[in-house]
Amino acid sequence: MSVTTKLLRLYRVDCQVRSLRSRVDAAERYLRQQDKTLEDLTAKHEALSGQSRQLQATIGNDENEARSIEQRIEALREKLNNSTSNKEYSALLTEVNTLKADKSGVEERILESMTRLDEIKNAIAEIDAETAERGKVRTVALNDRDQRAAEVKDRLTELESERAVAAGDVPADALAKFEEEVEFREDEVMAPVSEHSRKHMEYACGSCQVLLPFEAVNRLLGDGELTFCGNCGAILFIEDELRELVTGGKK
Ligand SMILES: [Zn+2]
Repeated sequence: MSVTTKLLRLYRVDCQVRSLRSRVDAAERYLRQQDKTLEDLTAKHEALSGQSRQLQATIGNDENEARSIEQRIEALREKLNNSTSNKEYSALLTEVNTLKADKSGVEERILESMTRLDEIKNAIAEIDAETAERGKVRTVALNDRDQRAAEVKDRLTELESERAVAAGDVPADALAKFEEEVEFREDEVMAPVSEHSRKHMEYACGSCQVLLPFEAVNRLLGDGELTFCGNCGAILFIEDELRELVTGGKK
């Protein structure tokens, strides 16, 4: 068996392995996306919960402050009632009015905080609802991934061992080249020679359609040594049908 024939056997198993895996990989990617979305939602939920706690503490402090101002006002009113001079009365009254203004400032702040707190609570409720929805989508995605993985598991194991046998048969340097190229070329790593014109002996790379020197075709028909397309770099092979047409049945 020529190097090209051995590579072709490996290539065909490899394509099947990749196609089976890609079904599971797509489901796996979708599942990861759902996980990412849920993580983002959790992070948002935590950030908003933190803001909500902070705001509640602020409101608590402001309420205490308002109460303490109120107590001071009450105390001043006592004094006001018992004041003995106009001067004292008017000084106390000014103080009371200042404190009243302070208190209404604090109360305004409390109202603003409460409005903001309501907004945050609504946002948290929205995130909770979205999390619940996304959780359902994730469950479906997980089941789908597991189901696909289970469906292909046996066949994949079989093909992977076939692939190992086929790879073991390919000479090391050709195998290294194949493994290196298949990483990014995937199914395009090998390409069949396609016949453009037998009369004019025009043959092209089945991947990029650029004409091949006839000497390359001859080499593939002959000892089948490792031959690359000079244009796109695909490893070339000749399909049996074409070989028979070109050689008239001779191997
Ligand atoms: Zn090519």
